[in-house]
Amino acid sequence: MRAVTLPGLPMSPDPHLLSPLRIAGVTLPNRMVMGAMHTRLETLDRPLQRLAAFYATRAAGEIALILTGGYSPVPEGVMDEGGLVLDSADQLDEHRQITSAVREAGGRIVLQILHAGRYAKLADCVAPSPGKARINVHAPRALSTAEVWATIESFAHTASLAEQAGYAGVEIMGSEGYLINEFTAALTNRRNDEFGGDFERRIRFPLEIVRAVRARVGRDFMLIYRISSIDLMEGGMTGPEVAAFARRIEQAGADMINTGVGWHESAVPTIAASVPRAAWLAAVRNVKQAVSIPVMASNRINTPDVAERIIASGAADLVSMARPLLADPEFAKKVRLGRSDEINLCIACNQACLDHIFTERTASCLVNPRAGREIEFDDRAAAGSKRIAVVGGGPAGMAFALESARRGHRVSLFEAQDELGGQLILARKVPGKFEFDGMLRYFDRALRLAEVDLRLGTMASAVELADGGFDEIVLATGVLPRIPALEGVDHPKVVGYQDVLSGRVMVGDRVAILGAGGIGFDVAEFLLGNAEESLDPNAFMTAWGVDASLSAPGGLAPPAPHHPRRQVHMFQRKRESLGRSLGKSTGWILKAKLRKARVAMTAGASYHAVDDRGLHYSVDGERRVLDVDTVVLCTGQEPNRGLHAELERRGVAARLIGGAHVASELDAKRAIDEATRLAVTI
Ligand code: NAP
Ligand code: SF4
Repeated sequence: MRAVTLPGLPMSPDPHLLSPLRIAGVTLPNRMVMGAMHTRLETLDRPLQRLAAFYATRAAGEIALILTGGYSPVPEGVMDEGGLVLDSADQLDEHRQITSAVREAGGRIVLQILHAGRYAKLADCVAPSPGKARINVHAPRALSTAEVWATIESFAHTASLAEQAGYAGVEIMGSEGYLINEFTAALTNRRNDEFGGDFERRIRFPLEIVRAVRARVGRDFMLIYRISSIDLMEGGMTGPEVAAFARRIEQAGADMINTGVGWHESAVPTIAASVPRAAWLAAVRNVKQAVSIPVMASNRINTPDVAERIIASGAADLVSMARPLLADPEFAKKVRLGRSDEINLCIACNQACLDHIFTERTASCLVNPRAGREIEFDDRAAAGSKRIAVVGGGPAGMAFALESARRGHRVSLFEAQDELGGQLILARKVPGKFEFDGMLRYFDRALRLAEVDLRLGTMASAVELADGGFDEIVLATGVLPRIPALEGVDHPKVVGYQDVLSGRVMVGDRVAILGAGGIGFDVAEFLLGNAEESLDPNAFMTAWGVDASLSAPGGLAPPAPHHPRRQVHMFQRKRESLGRSLGKSTGWILKAKLRKARVAMTAGASYHAVDDRGLHYSVDGERRVLDVDTVVLCTGQEPNRGLHAELERRGVAARLIGGAHVASELDAKRAIDEATRLAVTI
C-alpha cells in the first residue's frame, strides 16, 4: 500500500490509515470511520439541532465516514419506546438537516438500519421464533412468513428514503444479537419455513435484505453489511460459516462489510477496558480472507497506532471507532497533521456513553463532556484574560486548568505530588484500567501546549495564594479516605486502599475488604492480580472461554479455571447485594471475575473490631471472627478542604470543584464535567 506524504510534513507514521479508498461512488479520504452509536439525543429538546451539531463536529474533524445510530425500518423494531424509525417520506426534511450539516462540514454520513428484534424493549417485540432474551423483560412474538417478507421490504424502503435524504449509503445491522442475527443463529431461529432450518435457510433473511436494498438504490449509494464476525453465543455460527456467509453477502450486492463482535447478552465482554486492544482481529481476518470487498474492523480500537497496525497487517481495510470519536472529534485530523499525541483518548470506561444509554440517559463522554452537548457549550475566548490559580492536579484540576488556559486565561496549576493525576495515579494500577495512562499522557501534553504554568511537587499555601495576585483561586484538592470508627483501626493489619494500590504495604494471603463501592471492587481485582487478561488477547480468550481457532459454534470454548493468588472477603453494611452501584455495562464483568476467583461477599455486616485474631463482625446479630492477615479500608471518602478553611479565615474567596466540593459519588466523569462547565463561565 502507498505511503502518504503530506505537503510540508514529514512522512506520516500512519500511512495505511491515511490512504484514500474508493467504495461505491464515494472516495473516502482515509480509513477511519465513526461507528454507529445510539446517543438518545432524540429524547432531548432540539433533537435535530443536537444531532446535526454532533455529527457535523465529527465530520469537521475529518473522519472519513460517519455511521448514524440505528434507525428501525418499522415501529416494532425500535430499541425502546419513542426510539428512532425511518419509514416515511414525511421525515425526509428532518434527515436532510443532518446530511447537509455533515456535507457542509466536508463529511459523508451513512444511515444504519437496525431492527432490534427480541432486544426491543417493547411489549409487542418480534423475533424469528419465540424465546425471551436474557436482557429483556418482554418475550417476542414469532414473525409469520408473510411478515418476514414485509420486513425485508421495509429495509429496502428505508434505504430508499435514506438515499433521498442525502445519506451516502446505509449500513444494515446484522450483528450484536438484533433481529437479523437472531435469524442467522440456530439458537434463536427454530423456524421451519424458508427462513429457518439449515444454514442456507437461516441466512436467507439477510441475503434477501441485501438484494432488496441493492435493487432499490443507485449503484453509487454505499451498501454496508455489519456481520457478526463471532457470535459468542452457544448455537452461533462457526468461523467457516461466518466466512461462507460473508461471501454470500458480497455476492448479494454489498459494497463493504463491517464486523460486529458478540451479542449484547453474551457472557464474554467485547468492548470494555478489560478486553485487550484489537482483541478480535482473528475474527475480522476470517471475514476479510473470504471476500474481495473492503472489510472494516471494530471493537477496542482507540489509538492511531493500533488502527494503523490492523490495516497494515491486512486483517481489515478500514477501522470503525465509535467511542474514540466521542472522546475526540478531531481524531482523524490530528492523525493527518501528525499530532496523534494530542488525541484525547477514549479509555473504554463506558461510564458516560454506554452506561448512560443503558440507564435511559443521553450519551456523552467522561473525557469530553462536550460530546452530545455540542450546542450547550460556548467555546468563544474569555472576555478578558485573568490570572487563575488551580490547586490540585487530579481530573477536576487538570480539566479546569486546561479549559481556562484554552479560553485565554493565564493559569498556574499547583500539585503537591511530582506528577499529575491525583486519584487516577492509583486507578491505573488496577488490572483493566491501564487506559488511564493514556488519559494522563493527554492531559500532560495538552496542559503544556496550552502553556499552563505547572508547579509540580508544590504544596500551595494559603499565604502564597492570597498574596499571589490571582484573580481567581480554584481548589481541586480532592478527597481524603474515610476512616471508620472501628476498634483496632490502628492495628497493623489495617491498611488503606491508597497504601495497597500504591504498593506501599505488603498484603497477606487472607484479606478482608471493608466497603464495596467502586474502590472496594477495584482493590479486590488488584489483589487477585489478573492484569495480563486485559493486555494479552490470548490470556483474555483463555480466561473467558473464547475459541481462538474459531472452529466451535459461536466461537466459544470452556473457560480456564482461575487459581486466585489470595483469599479475599468483601463486606458492606447495606443489606443489598454487593456491586449494585457499579456501571451497568462493566459491573457484571467485574462480578463474574470475582465469582470465578471465589471472592466471598457479605452484605448487612456490622464491624466491631480488628485484633490479632482478625476481623470481628456480625451479621443478623450473630457475631463472627474472620481470620485474616490484612483488612483494607475502602469505606468512602471525605472532601479535602483544609486549604479552603485557611483561605476563608484570611477572607480570601476560592471556588471548590471535584471531590473537594462534594466527595460522595465522585468519579472522574463528574469531576471533569463539573470543572469544564465552570471553566467556560470564567
Ligand atoms: P463509595 O462508592 O461511596 O463506596 C464506599 C463504601 O464504603 C460503600 O460500600 C459503603 O457501604 C462503605 N462505607 C461508607 N461509609 C462507611 C463507614 N463510615 N464505615 C464503614 N463503611 C462505610 O466510594 P468508593 O468506593 O470510595 O468510590 C468513590 C467514587 O469513585 C465512587 O463514586 C465510585 O463510583 C467511584 N469509582 C468508580 C469506579 C468505576 O469503576 N466506575 C471505580 C472506582 C471508584 P456501606 O455503607 O453499605 O458499608
Ligand atoms: Fe470512551 Fe469512556 Fe468516553 Fe465512553 S465515556 S467514549 S468509554 S472515554
